[in-house]
Amino acid sequence: MLIDLHCHTAPYSSCSSLSPAELLSLAEERGLGGVCLTEHDTWWPAEELEALRQTTSLLVVAGVEFTTDAGHALAFGIPAGAKVLASGDAVSASAAESGGVVFLAHPARDGLLRVTAETVRCFDSVEAANGSDSRLQNMAAAGLAKGFRLPGIGGSDAHTPAEVGRCATRFTLPVGDETALVAALRAGAYEAVHCE
Ligand SMILES: [Zn+2]
Ligand SMILES: [Zn+2]
Repeated sequence: MLIDLHCHTAPYSSCSSLSPAELLSLAEERGLGGVCLTEHDTWWPAEELEALRQTTSLLVVAGVEFTTDAGHALAFGIPAGAKVLASGDAVSASAAESGGVVFLAHPARDGLLRVTAETVRCFDSVEAANGSDSRLQNMAAAGLAKGFRLPGIGGSDAHTPAEVGRCATRFTLPVGDETALVAALRAGAYEAVHCE
């Protein structure tokens, strides 16, 4: 099952021109089984997420992309809260407390590379395939993922319709909800893939 684990929509990510409805219809057209909304430093309200789920047969889950001092952090399974987590340590502590998982997003993107022994301990792994990054950046990211216990994840980082599903994560078993997603990520039963 293919899930795009890194999607930005408007208006919750102000830098995105992609509506949630467009994301879902393009994801279906491009053969994905699900999408994960990862807005910048913002949780989707639970009732709005549930309303969106009613419009599609795809799996729709949500994480958050936190802007931290250690780089952008894709977090899954951290419960919604008003507090923005601005440090790698804070995201890591919150994940440890809630049973969530955290991946360093686009770790080789220009200007964002802050991979050190100090920061590595904040993350379960990295995003090894990012649809907005170059081939070289993704090669470097895939190399970094080898240093972690868990494999790297894949996601489009879509902010526009054209980008939806460029990269995704292929799960060995079907994933039915957010709890199953976090369990599958924890178990390492997946691989990052480039879809085009
Ligand atoms: Zn980012
Ligand atoms: Zn992003």
